Formats: sequence, C-alpha cells, structure tokens
Amino acid sequence: MTTLASGIATHTGRVRAENQDNGLADETLFLVADGMGGHTGGAIASGIVVDYFRDQVDSLSVADVIDATHRANAAIIAAVDDDPTLRGMGTTLCVLALVEGEGDDRLIITNVGDSRVYHFKDSELEQITEDHSLVETLRREGRLTEDEAANHPQRNILTRALGIDTKVLVDDWAMLPFAGDRYVLCSDGLFNEVSENEIAGVLRRLADPQEAADELVRLANEGGGRDNITVVVVDVVDDDGRAERAAALQEKAAGERLAEHHSSVPDSAAVSAALPTDAGSSVDDEPARVERAGMFSLAALPAVTWRALLFAAVVVVVIAVAIGSFVAYARNSYYVGIDGTEVVIYKGRPGGVLWFDETIEERTGIAVIDVPDSRFVQIEAGHTSGSIDEARAYVSALSDEIEQLGTEGGAVPTTLPEVPTTDPVAPTSTVAPGDPDASTTIPVGATTTISV
Ligand code: MN
Repeated sequence: MTTLASGIATHTGRVRAENQDNGLADETLFLVADGMGGHTGGAIASGIVVDYFRDQVDSLSVADVIDATHRANAAIIAAVDDDPTLRGMGTTLCVLALVEGEGDDRLIITNVGDSRVYHFKDSELEQITEDHSLVETLRREGRLTEDEAANHPQRNILTRALGIDTKVLVDDWAMLPFAGDRYVLCSDGLFNEVSENEIAGVLRRLADPQEAADELVRLANEGGGRDNITVVVVDVVDDDGRAERAAALQEKAAGERLAEHHSSVPDSAAVSAALPTDAGSSVDDEPARVERAGMFSLAALPAVTWRALLFAAVVVVVIAVAIGSFVAYARNSYYVGIDGTEVVIYKGRPGGVLWFDETIEERTGIAVIDVPDSRFVQIEAGHTSGSIDEARAYVSALSDEIEQLGTEGGAVPTTLPEVPTTDPVAPTSTVAPGDPDASTTIPVGATTTISV
C-alpha cells in the first residue's frame, strides 16, 4: 500500500484584505484552488471546488478526477446563474490524487490555471504543471524572456480557469509513487515571492511536510506577501517496496548488459558449452539455446539439425508478424482530438501506445471554443476512428453541427472574446479595462482571459 503524509498552510498575505485561496489535504486527495473575482466571489469559487471534491469524489481514477473537475466547473457556473452579482468569479485548480490499483498505484495530477504542482526528487525541484497564463504562453513561444516574464505587469491574466466557460480543458499526468519523493501544490502567491531554489532549499532542510508548508508561507510573506499564499506538501512515505524493486531491476539490467558484453566475445570453450551435443532432441524445450548457438561461428552449424533451424525460422516469423500487427494497432488508427486550441486529426491512439506516440495527421481549423458541449468531452478524450476517412467524416459532421448552431442561435462566437473588463475592485488587477494592448496580445484561440 502506498502511504502519503502531508502538510497544508494558507495565508492572506500582507496586502490583500481577504484570502480567496482554498486548499485540501486529505489522505489521498490534495487540492489548491486560487479564486478570483471581486468582493467574495473568488473565495466562493475556490470554496465550491474544494467542497465538491471533498464531499462528492470518493472513488478516484484519472477519469474521476477529470470528470469531477468538469462538474466543479459546472457548479461554479450554476452558482453565478443563481446569483448574478457573483459574475466573473472563477478559480484555478491543481489536484494530486492517489489512485490505488492492485500493485499499480498512481499519483494523478491535474491542472487548470496558474497554480502549480512541483515534484521534488533526489534533491531536485521540477515543475510538472504548465501555467495557463498569458505571460507563460508568450514565454513558451519565445516572445518573452524569463526575466521579462517574471516581472511582467500582466502576469495575472489567465488563459484557462474554472467557472468561466461550460467547457474547460484539463491537463493531466500520472506519476509512480516512490518513497522519498515530495510534491508541492501551491498558488502563485508562493512562487511569485519565493524562488524555486529557495523552495528546494526548504524541502531539503525540513523533513516534516507541515513544517515545510509553514516555512514556505512564511518566506512568501517575507518576500512581500502581495497575494494570498497556499501550500500543500505531500510526501510519499511508503511505496510498498516500489523504489527498492526499481533499484533491484536496474542492477539486474546492468548485470545482464555486462553478461551480454562478455558473451559477445566468442571463444571455443563458450561455443562448445552453448551447443548441446544432442541439439535435435533438446531444442524444442530450449529454443533460446539455439538462438544463442547461432551467434557463434559457422563451424558450430553442423551440430544444429535442420529441425532446429526450421524451428528458429518459425519463431522469427511469428515474432515479426506479432510486431507488425502491434505497430499496425498502434499506428494505423486515427482519432479526432485537441492540439492546443484547435481540433485536429491524430494518427495513432489517444495517449500513444508504448513508444508509438500519436502524430498530427491533419489540422481542421476548428477552434476548440466552437465545439458544441455535447461533443466536447468525447473530443477531449480523443474520438477514435478506424480510418482517416472515418475521422474526416466525423470532423465534417462536427463542422456542420457548428455551422447549424451558429445560424440558429448566433450563440457561437466567431471571434475571440475581448479581454473581459477586469473587475474594477479587484485590488491586484493591473490591466485597465479595454486596454487596447491587452486585447491584441491574447494568443489566438485563448478560450478565456481573466484576471486573478
Ligand atoms: Mn493568486
């Protein structure tokens, strides 16, 4: 059984009047949600998400976490419908969940928005999640340097959040839990004030997860405390021997490589040892020895009977056919999925199969934002088709449906939404409503733009 230990700390910071962050550290479920929206809206939105996960989600799988995220999103939108004064509220959400299977435990991580999940392993800190913010998008595209991004006045503009649209893209990762690994979930109030080096330093210094979480919040306040700060530290304390097994496997693999290296130098003693004198009778039981014998000199051939050779040939053909059909399975199928903000046709299987990654076969020009709700979840997961023609037919039906929706209600936006006028009371909003620069820098296809 995988066992986790955790610590959680949250603080209003030194500038804000209210803490709109929310967090959760349960035995197997950990969340950070950074709410946004003036007055109490932000705190309500992040509270809805945390309550939803705590009260409604018990059996966890990747699909459960993603599904719960969509439902929590719908719950925020429903709350706004009930009380229009809450309009504009939303929240980020990071989830770390332990999903237990038989000897197959996984840590599932999902993310929407610019809160982060870090992985601390072998004393190194690595950011797992990708920030869904305008500035990070521009930095990834090389249009801003690291320094420009770190000090950009529009750091608070998000490209994805919960509570803004009925559709939301959820990023997910699966990690193997290894004893000694630590995870940090945090809102931007931490990493905007405390460098990653400092965060790693605290994790090296303080073994207790609660002490580490408290110390990180203290450092964020010391660094300025300009935003709410929430930190969850999760430690893998027992992994059911996984780390030891992995180490043993590595040693075994190293040993095998060594043995191979030695056996590749043929000498007469090795040849005679490898060749059974009665190869014909023993070969059916031990085909491996025939292959091994084949590696050696031609002089060994007379000892191998024609039956053994035929057997080896059949084995080779069977393996070749198996590999061929596996490749066909992995590659000769198509699915309609999402690349960034566009619907595309992939060749391969959703998520790839072993080392066969899917590749983009055709772009459709259909923006994700235009996809009808009824088809969205299916396409996000990847709609599999047997052939490229089937995939094209699906896309064409999708495109017809979008066109029809467009002419019926005119509800489908054909242009990007402008930067929503940020809530004038939001104390950290640095973008003036209607700022022309702001609306021109939104990346094409950005689905939502909100100010944290
Ligand atoms: Mn924040």
